[in-house]
Amino acid sequence: ASIFAAVEMAPRDPILGLNEAFAADTRAEKVNLGVGVYYDDNGKIPLLAAVRAAEKARLEAMPPRGYQPIEGPAAYNNAVQGLLFGKDSQLATSGQTVTIEALGGTGALKVGADYLKRLVPGATVYISDPSWENHRALFESAGFPVENYPYYDAASRGVNFAAMKAKLDSLQPGSVIVLHACCHNPTGADLSDAQWDEVVAVCRERGLIPFLDMAYQGFAEGIDADAVAVRALSSSGLQFFVSSSFSKSFSLYGERVGALSIVTASKEEAGRVLSQVKRVIRTNYSNPPIHGGAIVAAVLSSPELRQMWEDELGGMRERIRAMRTGLVDQLKAEGVAQDFSFVIKQRGMFSYTGLTAAQVETLKADFGIYAVSTGRICLAALNSKNIGYVAKAIAQVVK
Ligand code: PMP
Repeated sequence: ASIFAAVEMAPRDPILGLNEAFAADTRAEKVNLGVGVYYDDNGKIPLLAAVRAAEKARLEAMPPRGYQPIEGPAAYNNAVQGLLFGKDSQLATSGQTVTIEALGGTGALKVGADYLKRLVPGATVYISDPSWENHRALFESAGFPVENYPYYDAASRGVNFAAMKAKLDSLQPGSVIVLHACCHNPTGADLSDAQWDEVVAVCRERGLIPFLDMAYQGFAEGIDADAVAVRALSSSGLQFFVSSSFSKSFSLYGERVGALSIVTASKEEAGRVLSQVKRVIRTNYSNPPIHGGAIVAAVLSSPELRQMWEDELGGMRERIRAMRTGLVDQLKAEGVAQDFSFVIKQRGMFSYTGLTAAQVETLKADFGIYAVSTGRICLAALNSKNIGYVAKAIAQVVK
């Protein structure tokens, strides 16, 4: 018999399944709100002008394609630290922070999880309820038990901070806490600045290990404002992990550009930690690919391209916010009595709309509008052409 004869079919990824169903739908007016990607007003994934310019320069230079350092190039890693910790941050200049280039935010989480398993093998990992569905799988596959801490509050469509804090307050020292740094996926509900300070205080008091996941820097308020959680931890003197990603902020999804940063207590400690993280990488993919990181580093190190990028990032952010306001206004105009103004308060690409699984099913069956069965929609999939149609359809299913 074949060695694969008894292999079971793994469960399908629910969102990829949604995309397949959407692709097969022949209705011209169909809309896919299930995606986790930013689309422009023409419904296209943008290729940013700053990226285009950096790419053109690289193509003309035709650089050789040798191996990169295991941790990625210093120019890229320094640029990442500047965005996360702030220009000229002490955490960067002191040499106490390790940053390695990773294969997207997912790759950063994976390297971080594998390294943590060596550092604190007996720890439990806590993720928000709900969370990005890959968090659990990533940390479980690194060998950790994964549990939830309370987060989303369906009644207020915000965060149940009291419950979250009470849970964190009860955890074993050395537990790993995965926190969405901004633009919570899937709910769109973020902590306030003051609540971040409280989370930092609990982490210090209980000896917890914070692991920030920063996949959407610049998509809520701005580059620095969205780094509030990183900055709060930075000034705390605690050690912590940050995974970050340029998939969204540079619209470089398929290039797989991200980073893992680990804040240690000293430069000497950072040297030892980096040596161990490099072992994790070496036995996994050896060293990162060149192209995406080179583009990001080139954009961030040229004042002109950086300005261009910041303007384009601002444009994406403003467009998403306009879609949030537009949807709320149009639902009202359609005569929906229910208050949807929470959609304006939620941040980033996603909203937990409160639509039930049955309502989501009706949207698909009757209107060709696809959303996640939890009621999560991606605001960045709305545009000036489809928003009216979507608002009319939602109005019909909630009435
Ligand atoms: N973390 C969160 C919360 C995300 O939403 C995503 C992307 N959907 C990632 C990590 C992974 O990002 P990347 O595509 O860069 O691997």
